[in-house]
Amino acid sequence: MLEIENFIDGEFVSAVSQESLDDFNPATGQKIGNISSSDQRDVDNAVKAANDALAGWSSLSLDERIIWLEKIADALETKKEEIAKVESLDTGKPISLARRVDASRSITNFRFFSRFAKEQESLEFEMTDATNYVHRKPVGIVGLITPWNLPLYLLTWKIAPALVMGNTIIAKPSELTPLTANLFAKTLQEIDFPKGVFNIVHGLGPEAGQAILEHPEIKAISFTGGTQTGRIVARTAAPLFKKLSLELGGKNASVILDDADLELAAKGAAKAGFTNSGQVCLCGSRILIDESIADEFTALLIKEIESMKIGDPQNEDTDIGSVISISHLEKVESYVELALQEGGNILTGGNRPILDGNNANGAFLSPTVISGLDINSRTATEEIFGPVVTLHTFKDEAEAVEMANNTDYGLAGSVWTKNSERGKEFSKLIETGIMWVNTWLHRDLRTPFGGVKNSGVGREGGQWSLSFFSEMTNICVKHG
Ligand code: NAD
Repeated sequence: MLEIENFIDGEFVSAVSQESLDDFNPATGQKIGNISSSDQRDVDNAVKAANDALAGWSSLSLDERIIWLEKIADALETKKEEIAKVESLDTGKPISLARRVDASRSITNFRFFSRFAKEQESLEFEMTDATNYVHRKPVGIVGLITPWNLPLYLLTWKIAPALVMGNTIIAKPSELTPLTANLFAKTLQEIDFPKGVFNIVHGLGPEAGQAILEHPEIKAISFTGGTQTGRIVARTAAPLFKKLSLELGGKNASVILDDADLELAAKGAAKAGFTNSGQVCLCGSRILIDESIADEFTALLIKEIESMKIGDPQNEDTDIGSVISISHLEKVESYVELALQEGGNILTGGNRPILDGNNANGAFLSPTVISGLDINSRTATEEIFGPVVTLHTFKDEAEAVEMANNTDYGLAGSVWTKNSERGKEFSKLIETGIMWVNTWLHRDLRTPFGGVKNSGVGREGGQWSLSFFSEMTNICVKHG
């Protein structure tokens, strides 16, 4: 049984309450660990450590902090396989996906921000009689709150820019997936990373998370999670004038235009719908298809989805693992029920697969495709965050745009067409933060990442992350 303790001032410590939460492997239903259940007292201790460490860390030169980021990346590189195994165990995602996406991106986040920060040029604005120098300073102590779907990937996406800009950190990973954050803390200990610069407070959102939001000495909150929780985060942090970055939910569309390469589009839409069992905020959970190619495309899509192998996440050839928990499985299943009540037809999936051995009681659902639903139905407008997609047809591009925008969310989307220019022009009409043309989850870490409408406020990535994790002083020096 793993004991997951808080990491404060460079040491592992149990929660002041001495209470713990259970951590489960969702693919087997077995308990794998005890997690410290923290509250405001633990957050106070972490803030004290982060405060004590702030002067030392922020006074290092940018080059010195960059060297630390590279050291962290090197140390994580030696543990790449362990990160993938632990992430797969904690989330139920296939080991191959955990290796290819979670472990590898967690390392890349440090490599990217060390290189990107080094390339930044100083900002200066020349006037006829004066020069403006923009001086960047750290914000101070920052709070990082993250979800369970891409645990270390999303946490390090915030840690790396926060560290390189000279901040100290209080992190709260999801209580459902604390293992890789714990492994990360152990890694920092092994490389003698300065104590107190990075701290973890484990526990429930309304307790440990809320205490982070409310703490007056935590000056910025970077939050990734659900839209409902985002509302609580905004409501709590905004009156305290904290810097706030909100990366929230999505109900993204994959749009198949009449001139799409249908084989490519079917593979792409299947990947966009079912990667990580549909539990990526960017997943395309609504597939909008030009009616003239709908039959041909749907047949290719179903063939692609039915070829995906569902089963033990630890098997190398598994494509689809479990969802995050039995209670989440029940929520996803309730949407399948709702879809039937709303008049939908299940084209494939909709049931729990029969699996052997350890996985017999895991939280598995076969990839599910539902057609025949109104675009305004609850199934087609609410975020399900599981292996369920809905299919809808449109008669022309104008209707496709209207359908794609028919959601309170606005995070991402993809459009499939042989004409790149058409894809680009179509993308401009979609109310969203990110569009892909003939691809999905194709990421350049320099680009702005984030959503509009109920999908969030602000952008992460490249210069947007560096700006979020810094304050700027403009110094105007009169000539002569
Ligand atoms: P969640 O909102 O339930 O939890 C996210 C984090 O917030 C967890 O660490 C949780 O403990 C914490 N939390 C909960 N209540 C809190 C409170 N009152 N105060 C402070 N912290 C609190 O989300 P989840 O179920 O873990 O993740 C799934 C959601 O995340 C989906 O909606 C998905 O779309 C979204 N997501 C968005 C992005 C993005 O980049 N936009 C990326 C991944 C996931």
